[in-house]
Amino acid sequence: MHELAITESVVQAVTERLPGATIRCVYLEIGALSGVVPDSVRFCFDLVTEGTGLAGAKLEISQPNARCQCGECGAEFEPDGPIPMCACGSPVVSVLSGRELRITAVEVAS
Ligand SMILES: [Zn+2]
Repeated sequence: MHELAITESVVQAVTERLPGATIRCVYLEIGALSGVVPDSVRFCFDLVTEGTGLAGAKLEISQPNARCQCGECGAEFEPDGPIPMCACGSPVVSVLSGRELRITAVEVAS
């Protein structure tokens, strides 16, 4: 499962950065074109965090809108599906943003 590996690497990144800390909340940004399903990450998060400093932590996921640029007509647009296509009909599109998956903030219990 794709999301399990992703969730594991997120949890690993947090525990490496904040060893021994009790984490209250992890804020994740998952781009609309990253192919990552937020609900699956939420599900995996509870499994992966068991027994770590992140056990019981909340997971806040935001999904910023993606931006694409058409390779044919140069128009910038927001894709409406997982396979971006320009309004001019061209599938030759470069993704400007929307594939990112990053930890934006971590809340530590004091
Ligand atoms: Zn176009």
